[in-house]
Amino acid sequence: MEDHPALDLIEANNQWYSAKAGLGHKPSRRVAVVTCMDCRMDPHRFLGLEPGSAHILRNAGGRAADALRSLIISQQCLGTDTAVVIHHTECGAKGLNNNAFQDVVKCAVGVDSCDMDFQPFEDLEQSVLDDMALIKESPFVWTTEVQVFGYIYDVKTGTIHRVEERGALNTDEEILRLFEEGNKRYRAAFVKGDMHHKPSQKLAVITCMDCRLDHMRILGLELGDAHIITNAGGRIDDALRSLVISQHALGTTGVAVIHHTECGANKLDNNIFRVQLKKKFSETCTIDFLPFKDLERSVIDDVEAIERCPYVPKFVAVRGYVYDVATGSLRRLDCGRKLGIKHEKAIPTPMPPPVVKVQAKTAALPAPVATKTSISSSLPDGDMQQSSVVPQLTKANGNYASSFALGTLSHKPSRKVAVVTCMDCRLEPARSLGLEPGEAHIIRNAGGRAADALRSLVVSQQCLGTTTVIVIHHTKCGMAFLNVDNLKAKLKTELGVAKVDMDFQEFGDLEQSVLEDMHIIKSHPLIADYIEVYGFVYDVETGTIQEVKDEVAPLR
Ligand SMILES: [Zn+2]
Ligand SMILES: [Zn+2]
Repeated sequence: MEDHPALDLIEANNQWYSAKAGLGHKPSRRVAVVTCMDCRMDPHRFLGLEPGSAHILRNAGGRAADALRSLIISQQCLGTDTAVVIHHTECGAKGLNNNAFQDVVKCAVGVDSCDMDFQPFEDLEQSVLDDMALIKESPFVWTTEVQVFGYIYDVKTGTIHRVEERGALNTDEEILRLFEEGNKRYRAAFVKGDMHHKPSQKLAVITCMDCRLDHMRILGLELGDAHIITNAGGRIDDALRSLVISQHALGTTGVAVIHHTECGANKLDNNIFRVQLKKKFSETCTIDFLPFKDLERSVIDDVEAIERCPYVPKFVAVRGYVYDVATGSLRRLDCGRKLGIKHEKAIPTPMPPPVVKVQAKTAALPAPVATKTSISSSLPDGDMQQSSVVPQLTKANGNYASSFALGTLSHKPSRKVAVVTCMDCRLEPARSLGLEPGEAHIIRNAGGRAADALRSLVVSQQCLGTTTVIVIHHTKCGMAFLNVDNLKAKLKTELGVAKVDMDFQEFGDLEQSVLEDMHIIKSHPLIADYIEVYGFVYDVETGTIQEVKDEVAPLR
């Protein structure tokens, strides 16, 4: 299901590509182009731009809001002084109904809410003018330093038309002449006027705006094949809106995340850069420029963030690559769903929070799922903001192990007690009962239900000598509020299964559920008569436990 022929195709095609040696990472034409990801457009070609000459920033609609972070980097770090906004005819973002599309997404992936602004527009010229204005109004863009121009690209004829602000001075810029000449040459050979706007390879590529990357050539992609989404670094954060549109409006089912060697985002320091901006523009900058320390890690983080995103259907195939600007070759990284989750679909994953903000950081994308990566032990040091939780845990373990003194404990619980309780993150079962390492078995699952704990209890008692069981359920337990019908519907939509016959063991009454579980344990044929079973309710607000007495059938 997660195989994707087009992803194999771009890997194969890349073997025929060899990079142009000696290109600088500063665009020689000092221009950044903001345009749509549309599969019918190859901005390098229709503007006559060679590799090394320009930053190409692409997203759904070619909207400036998603491109601002990258534009600031382009201008302040890499010396571009011209920004060009190019929207196009027959754009999917034109006339898109934001609310209706939010409903489409909600329905397709079974989430309750979607407040993403998909940034549709009504009038094509107006949207170009709006985005030109948005760039000029940014406190981090000075119009004395940076010129902003606008064009409309006609997908039927391959022609670009200038969009000028009312009252704008006549400009005769060299860069515009260059575009118009390049476009003339392009038009002369342009034949693909009737392509479909749905990418024929059902593929979306997320990669860096870097001027050395000739995005379509690198991957052997033809017009009409794929969506190309680009920004500084090729980060998912700025690309998420476009990706959701690509998948839900235009049917793509594969994603290639491609970061590259010698990337500027690799060296950038958020804080230093913000201080520089503040010094120059006298304006406090809070933008997260999404730098990364470790190249492979950043690819894996972004692949995982896409897989975790509740708006991305689970059948979407996501692969991560590193592109080498020196050799032009693409290297696939071992990451993503294929390594961990594919065979575990029956296990319920945590419910994602209903809402993702477009600007959310990678680290803040919802609903972590267990995903193994091949390099989780080669950690980036320092700022872990963009990393997944696993490296942080591995690092924390380093501290733990450095003062570890429990190496000689017996594996038999010295106080002969097993506690069955909920996995709830607010509970500290051992500490709240004064239990030290080596003293007790703590068996945890959703709700602290006995049925799931029986196997462990039998082992605990028969092999490791425990003689007392304590069942502890707690106030505000998720299993008491769980809407099983919703959960099952969600699983069916997201995982495409016909039937969910898992018993989630939700409960209504808290004391009743404790009593029920005490009875299940006591009456089980593999639990000996001498085992004592107690029940408690733990209050998550006060930290106190309250015993639940079994009045019906007194304890043995
Ligand atoms: Zn478009
Ligand atoms: Zn880059």
